[in-house]
Formats: sequence, C-alpha cells, structure tokens
Amino acid sequence: MLSPQPATRQHCSRSLNPLQPQRVRNLLHNLFKDHLHGPLFGKLIAIKDNISTGPSTPSLATTAASNTLRKHASPFAATVVRLLEENGALIAGKTNCDEFGMGSHSLNSAHGPVKNAYVRGGHALSAGGSSGGSAVAVATRQCWAALGTDTGGSVRLPAAYCGIVGFKPSYGLLSRWGLLDYANSMDTVGVLSRDVPDARSLFRILNRFDEEDPTSLPPSVRARLSSANAGEESDKSVGNARSLRIGVPTDYCLEELSSPVHRAWIRTLNRLQDEGHQLVPVNLPSTKQALSAYYVLAPAEASSNLAKYDGVRYGSRLQDSPSHQEAEADKSGKGVLFSRYRGEGFGDEVKRRILLGAFALSAAAMDNYFIQAQKIRRLVQADFDRVFASPNPLHTASSLSPPKPDLAEKIADEASSPHSMRSRVDVLITPTAPTLPPTIDDVRQQDPLASYTNDVFTVPASLAGLPSISVPVPLDGVAETTGRPQSRAAYEDGGWGDVRSAGMQVIGQFGDDEIVLRMGEIIE
Ligand code: GLN
Repeated sequence: MLSPQPATRQHCSRSLNPLQPQRVRNLLHNLFKDHLHGPLFGKLIAIKDNISTGPSTPSLATTAASNTLRKHASPFAATVVRLLEENGALIAGKTNCDEFGMGSHSLNSAHGPVKNAYVRGGHALSAGGSSGGSAVAVATRQCWAALGTDTGGSVRLPAAYCGIVGFKPSYGLLSRWGLLDYANSMDTVGVLSRDVPDARSLFRILNRFDEEDPTSLPPSVRARLSSANAGEESDKSVGNARSLRIGVPTDYCLEELSSPVHRAWIRTLNRLQDEGHQLVPVNLPSTKQALSAYYVLAPAEASSNLAKYDGVRYGSRLQDSPSHQEAEADKSGKGVLFSRYRGEGFGDEVKRRILLGAFALSAAAMDNYFIQAQKIRRLVQADFDRVFASPNPLHTASSLSPPKPDLAEKIADEASSPHSMRSRVDVLITPTAPTLPPTIDDVRQQDPLASYTNDVFTVPASLAGLPSISVPVPLDGVAETTGRPQSRAAYEDGGWGDVRSAGMQVIGQFGDDEIVLRMGEIIE
C-alpha cells in the first residue's frame, strides 16, 4: 500500500549518495532502462488497489482492499497500467480504497481508513471514496498523478474532498481489462491529478480501443467521436469568440446542499457569465430518483460479480484450516466452507451490498426493484439527451436498441416542449458533492445509508455513462493562490488545516470528453 506518510528526508539522502554520482546514475539507468522514453518518462503514477498490476511490479499485490484477496498477486497487468508503463511511467505503488470500490469515504478497507491531508479542529477528515488513497497520494505530491475507478463518483468525490482534479471519461473509452469489477455497466477508470492539463495528457494516452474488454468502444465509434470533438474543439476553444452554453440544473438545489458549496457554485457561475459564457437553467427531473436507482443497480451487479470470491476459484484460504466436520458438511452440499470464506473475507459494507443486490434480483423483487431501476436509468439518460446540444452518438448507432414505447412517448413529449431547442447546452455545471468533507468520526456515527447521499450529484452521469470532471474552486474568502493544497512540508507538520476549496463538476454529452476537460480548465 502507498502509505499517506511520505518518505523521510533521511531516507532520501541515504538512497542518493552525493559521493558516487556515476554509480547512482548507472543504478538508476539499469532500474529504469525500460522507461527511458515516452511522454510519461519517469513520472510516478499511483494505482488504485482494484486495478491489477502485474509481473513488472511483483511486490505489489492487488487486493481491492479486501481480506478475500489479501495475498492476491495478479499474473497480468490491467491494460491501463500496461499503457502507462509503455509510455515511460513508473508505478509508484497501490493506493488504499473502499473494498471493491464500495463506499464514499475510503473507510471500508481491510487495510484501515484513508485520511485526508486536511484537518478540521484537529479532527481527521474524510478523503472521500472510494479512490481516497489515490486522491491523497496526488494531493500530498507522493506521485505525479494516480488512477482510480469511478462507478458512481469514486474519482470525482475524493478529488473534491482533497482539493485536486478528478476526471471520469465517457464509459467505454478507457479499458476495463484488469479491473476488479464492482458494477460492470458503470465501472470506469478515471484519473486524478493536480491540474486539468495533466488529467488531459493521461486521458489521451489511455484512450485506446482494447479488444480484451468487450465494452471498449470499437474504432468505428471512436472515429465518429473524434471527428465530432475536432469540430467542437475549434468552435469552443478557450478564448474563442464562441462562448459556451452552460446548463445549470435547477433540480440540483437540494436541501442537502450546504451553504459554502452553494456559494462556491454561484460564484463560479457568475464568474463564467462575466467571462462571456451563457448560463441556461435546465431541468433534469429524474435526478431525484437517480440515487435510488443507482443503489439498486450497482449492488445487483456487485452481488453477481462477487460470487466468484468463494475461496476456491478466487480468494484467500481461511485463516485456520477447515475442521473435519466442516469438510464433511461441505461434501454434502451445505456450503459451510463457502459461507465461512465469504463471512471472514468480506467487510460489512460489501456484505450489505451483496444482500441488497441479491434481493433486488430475486424473483419476488425483480419487477419492483431491478426493472424499475433500469427504467429510471433510461429516464436519466433521456433527461441528459434532452438538454445537451450535441446528439448522443450512441443513440444514432444502430447497435443500440430504441427506448421502449412508453418511454419513447415521454421523450417525444418532452422534446416537443416549446423551449427545447433554445435551452440546449454544451455542458452542465453542478457541485460535485453536497457538502465539504465531514470528519471521519462523524462518518462513523452516521447510518451507513446516510453516506449514500454524498453521491447524489455524481451518480446521474454514471448511470448515463457521461464524461465528467471535478475541479477545485476556492471557497468564499479564500484567495485563488491558497485555494489549492498546501506544501508537503505543511502536511508533514500535522495536516493542512481546514479545507479551502469545493469541487465543481462539469458534465458533458457522451463522447464530449475534450469539451468537458476544456471547461474544467476554464474553471480552474
Ligand atoms: N459511493 C458509491 C458506491 O459506494 C460510488 C462508488 C464508486 O464509484 N466506486 O457505490
């Protein structure tokens, strides 16, 4: 695990002995000779622990922060990790996270909690989840950038809490080969970095078709996306005469939205308007149901995905060997060992999701939960398609089946409403999270379901597979220059004090990743 504690200065001076520069150079050359090329040459990149690192980094296990995989060393590297290495990057280490990506605070980990570098009144703050370790590693400059995964907000939320940038690309652009799945239909590899240009350069390197991943967008669709993006780019570049139309979802003014975050949102919008961009209020009525739909669909997929961790096909053996009676009972099909493996291996939150998901998929509940949640997912996608100026390129592809008749009617009704064409926008801007990071103590006292509300602004883009970025903006009264994470020395001296920024989220139409990045850069 990459620990949030940085290496000591003593440590550094020992490993770089100034008396033997030639020897040191030779040593470094031998160690890194395979990486002495490429746009990421020598850059340290940390990897969330649910992304497989392979034989090139044999000391790194891939545990997904679960006891079921505590000794798991993957025989191969994820495609995204391979691409990083081929482009010269150095894998800095694996970062702590919520078990199998399930959580919003990076506290559900077999390796212990992740702590934000910011503190409030001497209390440790949540780093956000589930890619909290990756966010802290970037914020504290233990690496240049990090990979995370985002199923319902797990790259964007920790980025917002830790004052850095977190980008979730359109679903299907970055390979999922080598990821330990949570909910396949939403799992997306994302990047965490200190600024938007770094996120963009990593994204461009990783944005490749991968035949190992059946959900990787094929070259034909990619070609369509890039030609559309090229046209948009010339139209909407920073400083270009054509201003952007920014959608402001009125449905996001929820009562959970705290006032510092609300004020940061309004200030950001005012600033953009002053700079010549146009603000357009939009309605996304399904937002309110999106969170409930997500927490039916994601656990349902998880309950199926995690069935393989049974201690036989995957997963660690039990701490103590099975008793004679257990082994005998198992032979008669009672599944005693199976339930012991899973009972000992999985943490409470994972067990909760497996139960929830298995229930939602059961014959008695399927129609009332899983099917309804799927319908809401289509409504969320339709909401987005209705507000974006660019058409959804997937819906023009013949491969995608058209919506069901009752839904098609609803979409047609909405599309024919009088303001539809004039109110179409290029991007949406919303807060990333409803509040600033809570203290870890407060989170621990919360009902586990209360944590789910942190994802209210991030899950809609996940359900629709849309590109989305979280960018830090300074809070009221904080000068631009001090809105960003403080120095590593201050962190070593016991924490940075209270948070100085809130995360603003930019969401774009499917495939408009470059426009989302562009808008992120304008905001930052
Ligand atoms: N907090 C959400 C969940 O627990 C999102 C997690 C994620 O994006 N991996 O499901």
